[in-house]
Amino acid sequence: MPGLYVHIPFCLQACYYCDFHYKARTDRKPDMLKAIQREASLRCGEWSATETGATWYFGGGTPTVLSAEEWAVLKESLSPLYPCHGEWTVEANPEDLTPDYLSMLKQLGVNRLSIGIQSFDDGMLRWMHRRHTAERAVESVRQAQAAGFENLSIDLIYGIPGMTVADWRCQLEQAAALHVPHLSAYHLTLEPRTVFGVRLRQGKMAPIQEEESERQYTLLTSFLADNGYEHYEISNFAQPGYRAVHNSGYWTGVPYVGLGPSAHSYDGNSRRWNIASNDRYIQGVQTGDETWFQTETLSDTEKYDEYVMTRLRTSDGMDLQTMAGLSGEQRTAECLRDMEKYLRSGQIQPLGGTRYRIAEHAWLTADSIIADLFAS
Ligand code: SF4
Repeated sequence: MPGLYVHIPFCLQACYYCDFHYKARTDRKPDMLKAIQREASLRCGEWSATETGATWYFGGGTPTVLSAEEWAVLKESLSPLYPCHGEWTVEANPEDLTPDYLSMLKQLGVNRLSIGIQSFDDGMLRWMHRRHTAERAVESVRQAQAAGFENLSIDLIYGIPGMTVADWRCQLEQAAALHVPHLSAYHLTLEPRTVFGVRLRQGKMAPIQEEESERQYTLLTSFLADNGYEHYEISNFAQPGYRAVHNSGYWTGVPYVGLGPSAHSYDGNSRRWNIASNDRYIQGVQTGDETWFQTETLSDTEKYDEYVMTRLRTSDGMDLQTMAGLSGEQRTAECLRDMEKYLRSGQIQPLGGTRYRIAEHAWLTADSIIADLFAS
């Protein structure tokens, strides 16, 4: 059940917190789309046509900067090479989702939208330098539902400096009122290469206090549980039957092919990542000089780390029997020994049999627990 990820590296406005790869100008869009199609045909041997349940995910950047004609050309070139009859997700900016655009996506075959709302507060949206308003955010979800998109996800950001628990509750109440079956909630991180990262270095802003983060996280988990959402991954919540299929593949070792600049790929044994530069990607794909991507074969230790890192992000956790099959009895025994202190503190919980997970209340600090369990 493989996945195809396509990175559309353009945005019409740069959000101040964003560390993804994108260019805030679209003049090379035609060249980029040709390069992505060329990469697709060069690498289609990596896709097993016999597999069913394959997924497509268009992320970015902002895939909704593509016109109807551009979508049609991309679909026509990718479909025969990477057939997909399962989940097809497109990340969308609320500002782009007009009724006409939504109906075009629906007719194309897109069956899931992930809408980057981030906040229902105009002040916060302006502060983050988002393109849309709170009113437009709500309207885009209602219009998507009217266009027949039932499988919808929205993104929200919490842990914003100055945000209170009461503000966050207000955001969550507005999200719940939209009746979307999936929600992703991310704690704001002040990444070095972003506007916020620069402000942090200059002493012009500070991260939110840890206790306030914890209060907002606790509210997030209890509020969404009360509203029928299952917390199935650190940042992801779904109503029954609406877990994200494509993204779940990343956390369960499903192979995927990533096309476009900065896209990553994984085949179970090796990883590949494309260069995070639009110009160098286009140039490299055109000339075929192979300087536009790198590959790495995973050692047994790296496969073990990968297993721990991905599985402990999920509520299904990791299975020591599977781990033993992958990494050997000795490595698994060492893992169990390293886990003991977390089992005693309740930060890691047994799920029955040989399965363990990070407790929901400890997920906010999952990175440090996972790093502690790494072999390398
Ligand atoms: S629209 Fe998305 S990818 Fe583009 S700058 Fe904003 S957060 Fe980043």
